[in-house]
Amino acid sequence: MERPMFTYDAEMADLIFDFCRWRLSLDPVPLDFGGHLEGLEGALEGLLTPEGRDPAELLEVFDTTIATAVVSVDSPRFLSFIPAAPTKASLLFDMVVSASSLNGTSWLEAAGVIAAENQVLEFLAERAGLPEGAGGCFVSGGSVGNLSALVVARDRARRRDPSLIGRRLRFAVSEEAHSSVAKALRVIDVDALLVPTVDHRLTGEALSAALAGVDDPATVVAVIATAGTTNAGIIDDLEGVGAIARERGMWFHVDAAYGGAGMLSTTHGHLFSGMRHVDSFIVDPHKWLFAPFDCAALLYREPAEAAATHTQDASYLDVIHEGDGEWNPTDYAIHLTRRARGMAIWFSLCVYGTDAYAEAVDAGIRIAERAATMITEAEHLELVRPPGLSIVLFRRVGWNDEEYARWSTRLLAEQVGFVTPTKWLGETVARFAFLHPETTEEMVAEILATMD
Ligand SMILES: *Cc1c(COP(=O)(O)O)cnc(C)c1O
Repeated sequence: MERPMFTYDAEMADLIFDFCRWRLSLDPVPLDFGGHLEGLEGALEGLLTPEGRDPAELLEVFDTTIATAVVSVDSPRFLSFIPAAPTKASLLFDMVVSASSLNGTSWLEAAGVIAAENQVLEFLAERAGLPEGAGGCFVSGGSVGNLSALVVARDRARRRDPSLIGRRLRFAVSEEAHSSVAKALRVIDVDALLVPTVDHRLTGEALSAALAGVDDPATVVAVIATAGTTNAGIIDDLEGVGAIARERGMWFHVDAAYGGAGMLSTTHGHLFSGMRHVDSFIVDPHKWLFAPFDCAALLYREPAEAAATHTQDASYLDVIHEGDGEWNPTDYAIHLTRRARGMAIWFSLCVYGTDAYAEAVDAGIRIAERAATMITEAEHLELVRPPGLSIVLFRRVGWNDEEYARWSTRLLAEQVGFVTPTKWLGETVARFAFLHPETTEEMVAEILATMD
C-alpha cells in the first residue's frame, strides 16, 4: 500500500497517540533491561526496505523488543548514574514541540519560542543571583554546555590580554570535576591546574594557595567549580572560589549540571548562594528539573562575551543579525540548528508553578536523608559519608567488588532496582542517586534488604 509521506494519516496518528497515551499512563514505569541485544538483531532484520512497512508492525517491534532493551531512566527504581523524572506536562508538551517542527536557532525564525525559553533561563539566572542582563540558551546536555562556556572563558582571556595569544593557558579545577570538563579542556587545548581539595571540595583557600605556587599565574585565566558532584553530590566552596576569581579577573564557571536544581530547594538552596559570582554556569533540566531529554541550560553573566566567541559568520546568516532586541541562541553555544528543547520545561514550569518544583526537589533530598538513616540503622551497612544533596554512598561491610557487581546484576534481573556500584577513595561502594519524587521508603527498604 502506498503511503503519502506528507498527508495526514489518521490511522497512523491514532496508533501513535494511543501508544503515547498508554506509555504516559504507566504507573509505575517498568524498569526493564539495557545492556543486551538478544532477540534484537533478528527483530530488526528486514524492516528497512525500499517499499516501506506497516507502522503498526514497526510500533509492535518498538514496544516489545526495542523499548524493553532499555532501562527506564524514569522508573522510581532507577537509582544509578543520574536518573530522570520528566513531569507529565513536560512529556506531553515535548510532543507538541515535535509536531510543530520548531527550529529554535534564530530570532528571525523563532522569536516566540526563544522568548518563552528565555523566560525559563531568566528564572534560573535569577535563582543563581545573577544580575539583569544575564542570558544564554538551552543546549543538548551539560557536556556541550561546559564546552560552550569554557571556550568563551578562553577567548575572553585572550581578548582582554592579547599577550596571552600563543601562550599555553590553564584553567584551575579539582580532580572532582566532571569528566566532561576534562574533555572540554582537551578540545579547547587548555591545560588543567589541578587544585587539591579539602574533603573533596574545591575551596577558595586552596585555589589561592595553588595560584601562589605557579610560575606564571597570569596564564591561569579561569576556574571551574562543581555545585553537586555527580558521584557524591558535593558542592564546592562557591563563595570562596568566586571571591578569588573576582579579585583576579579569572572567569568563574560552575558546573551545576546535576546539583543546580538544588537552588530551588527550600532546605538546601542556601548552599548555592555563591552562584551569584559566576560568569557562566550550566544546569541540566533533563536531570533534576524534571524535563525530557535532551535539555541543558547554559547561562552567562555577560552574554555579549559569549556572542563574541560563538556568533557564526556566514554571508547567508547575516540576515539573522540585523534585528533589534534579537536573541539568537546560536550566538551563545557551539551549535547552529537546534530543537526548541527549552519549551517542554517552559510549559511544565508554568503549569505546575515553581513551588511544586521546589517541593519535588526537596522530595529527592528527603528520601536521600531517610535512606541514610536506614543505612545507619542496618547491621551490615555503613554510610560512607553524609548524603550530598540527593546522593548516598554506602558500603556493605565485608563485600568485595565482585559481590557488589553480582548484587547489582541480581537487583536488575529481579526488577527490584537499578543500583550500580561506584568507587570512593579506591574502594568499591554502593551508591543511590535519588531524584524521582515517587521513589518510596518501601522501595529503598526492599533494596537494602537484598544486601543482608
Ligand atoms: C551529568 C553531568 C554532566 C554532563 O552532562 P550531560 O547532560 O550528560 O552532557 C556534567 N557535569 C556534571 C556535574 C554532571 O552531573
